[in-house]
Amino acid sequence: MPISSAAGRFAPSPTGELHVGNLRTALLAWLFARSTGRRFLLRMEDLDRVRSGAEAAQLRDLTAVGLDWDSDIIRQSERTDIYLDAINGLRRAGLVYECFCTRREVAEAASAPHAPPGAYLGTCRHLTEEQRARRRRDRPAALRLRAEVREFTVTDELHGSYTSAVDDLVLLRNDGAPSYNLAVVLDDALQGIDQVVRGDDLLSSAPRQAYLGSLLGLPPVGYAHVPLALNTSGQRLAKRDGAVTLSDLAAAGLDADAVRAQILGSLGLPGDLHAALAAFSPARIPLEPWIFDPARDLRTARSNS
Ligand code: GLU
Repeated sequence: MPISSAAGRFAPSPTGELHVGNLRTALLAWLFARSTGRRFLLRMEDLDRVRSGAEAAQLRDLTAVGLDWDSDIIRQSERTDIYLDAINGLRRAGLVYECFCTRREVAEAASAPHAPPGAYLGTCRHLTEEQRARRRRDRPAALRLRAEVREFTVTDELHGSYTSAVDDLVLLRNDGAPSYNLAVVLDDALQGIDQVVRGDDLLSSAPRQAYLGSLLGLPPVGYAHVPLALNTSGQRLAKRDGAVTLSDLAAAGLDADAVRAQILGSLGLPGDLHAALAAFSPARIPLEPWIFDPARDLRTARSNS
């Protein structure tokens, strides 16, 4: 049955043009949402590095492959007050502390024997007020969550029940910007998003985000972390891998319809978006990464179009 108040989303960071791997994730997010009667929303995650003109180029390319979205696009850079309010609420609940560690100190502590990979080990958690006052003179503090669990479990439509470590994640960076983890959790909830479809590089972040959401009293979301596109050496696809954006591929003689057909073909779906929607079933998505080889894939796509 259609769930009309529910929504899925695509949330790119406007750092440059989307490549075929990003477009594949966007197409999958759209297919998941539309095949379950959900609204589909776009959000620009522009708290960090932003390339001028990137948002317009991304919207142009999403439209070119046939995607549509509901409501206005929201931009995180315009929502700082919401994030700061949430941090204040957590602070009042005693769940926030100041952290003065440099990137290097965090990395050094995390590389100690037996440290969980990549986790913050709580170096600044137990500073006294006097120590904090002294450290504040040297550098501005970041704000971290005082996590009360070590791990958390989420349910993912493709990966099943998934547990990973929760550490004292950053809520506010020491340059004053709210963190990605905080913004994503608040925005998904505030936009009514209950289905998060995104690249599986973010799977290990889902439990800490879901835990943060639970502390903020937000409704839980369902996840589907989809496989990434890789280059022929098995690394995450990037611009340096050759013709990977719609404009590169257009210059090589492949229009957006042909690129969409190529991407949908890699998912075992017909190239027309409406036919793909009718045929879409999450259970049939290949779980292995999509290896994109511009030279080979251009040849096949040309011969199919
Ligand atoms: N903005 C993130 C990215 O472009 C995606 C975050 C998300 O989907 O939760 O990688």
